[in-house]
Amino acid sequence: MKRQRISDLLARPEAGGDVDIAGWVRTKRDSKEIVFLNVNDGSNLAGIQVVVPRDAACFEDARKLTTGASVAVSGRLVDSPGGKQRFEILASGLRIYGLADPATYPIQKKKITLEYLREVAHLRPRTNTFGAVFRVRNTAADAVHRFFQERGFVWIHTPIITSADAEGAGELFRVTVLDPASPPRMDDGRVDYREDFFGRETYLTVSGQLAVENFCSALGNVYTFGPTFRAENSNTTRHLAEFWMIEPEMAFADIHDDMDLAEEFLKYIIAVVLRDRAEDMSFLAERYDPELLPRLEHILASTFARITYTEAVEILERSGRPFQFPVRWGMDLQTEHERYLCEEHFMGPVIVTDYPMEIKAFYMKQNDDGKTVRAMDILFPGVGEIVGGSQREDDLEKLVSRMRALGMREETYWWYLDLRRYGTHPHCGFGLGFERLVQFLTGMSNIRDVIPFPRTPKNADF
Ligand code: ATP
Ligand code: MN
Repeated sequence: MKRQRISDLLARPEAGGDVDIAGWVRTKRDSKEIVFLNVNDGSNLAGIQVVVPRDAACFEDARKLTTGASVAVSGRLVDSPGGKQRFEILASGLRIYGLADPATYPIQKKKITLEYLREVAHLRPRTNTFGAVFRVRNTAADAVHRFFQERGFVWIHTPIITSADAEGAGELFRVTVLDPASPPRMDDGRVDYREDFFGRETYLTVSGQLAVENFCSALGNVYTFGPTFRAENSNTTRHLAEFWMIEPEMAFADIHDDMDLAEEFLKYIIAVVLRDRAEDMSFLAERYDPELLPRLEHILASTFARITYTEAVEILERSGRPFQFPVRWGMDLQTEHERYLCEEHFMGPVIVTDYPMEIKAFYMKQNDDGKTVRAMDILFPGVGEIVGGSQREDDLEKLVSRMRALGMREETYWWYLDLRRYGTHPHCGFGLGFERLVQFLTGMSNIRDVIPFPRTPKNADF
């Protein structure tokens, strides 16, 4: 039997016609005369009301249903007199697939906390909150691809298993098939990874950047969007051990092009989510964060301020604020500084460029002043840094001298240096943690609530 999606039924111009749906019961109210069900199939937030009158053949079946049961319903689409929804289904047939014991079903209608729901992460998508979050996440992910594809960027599937640690971006997860109880050892006692699967030490990737730079040097504008792993032992509301990263890279482009791309990108994703997920976004705003929609609208309406790091430091010094971390040129900006710039000084998003070389990665293009690099970070109100990017160093000598200064082994990066040996070109890109973006879009305060099954220190359940 051909089923209809509830969201499609509710989008019809008028009631009428026979319909078939299937989903999970969210609520049931019944009396001797009538049963009201709310059935949700995941296609929207509200589900649809199903009315089973006493004279329907399926009336007794309907009375058996409880929250969490799975059911298919056939009937007529009729106008809903209650006015909460446009249409409801007047049921004539009902098929129960599976009941859910109310004594043990973990997701009852009563108010449940987000903390509790993390312990039943396999069932939390059945709540309004997680249905909304994951529909928004899907729409955002689709919009990421559409944004780049519409502009001719080529999606590069960068490797998950790598041997290079991109810039020492984070703690690495080792990939090995050696027996942990008795690994082969070298004479000096160290583990002999030449015996390992790849014949060398390998890790899960912390960033796809070095790989997209390679493809940028042939295909022009490219991007990667995939999982990234960091074994950082930081139990914060903004860090996961496994998260998804978006990293575009543009050839023959400079830091100004990079800023333009990032600003356009962020506005595009926000606009699509507000347009296509209005019901979910209103629910999230109402439930968790009344400022959510105005904050997103404000970003769309604003032109991102652009200042250098040196200007940012001057603004912070002049502010007279007693920051916890006192400001001085050369320090990395802390969240309190980033938030002051966005929320109090510029009242909107800010792009900070030209950071001190010492606090940024080796591959960033060195400025002529010998002190700063062509980095750009985008700071958002309420969040701080949301995007980090840069123009890359395309001068072989400068790149090598920086790597030497940092004690990096050139041999490891021979292929990366080849890009500067053969047909080098200006290029730039940025990195954006997808879950941080989804947090910003949904207003969820804990990053564990915007990914299906979060991986964090001491937790890989489900
Ligand atoms: P942070 O200072 O927040 O730890 P970072 O400087 O380590 O971030 P980058 O190495 O620049 O981050 O990584 C690029 C982007 O990936 C960041 O801007 C952020 O959005 C995201 N990101 C980094 N680490 C994590 C993590 N552990 N979990 C989720 N997202 C992350
Ligand atoms: Mn980090």
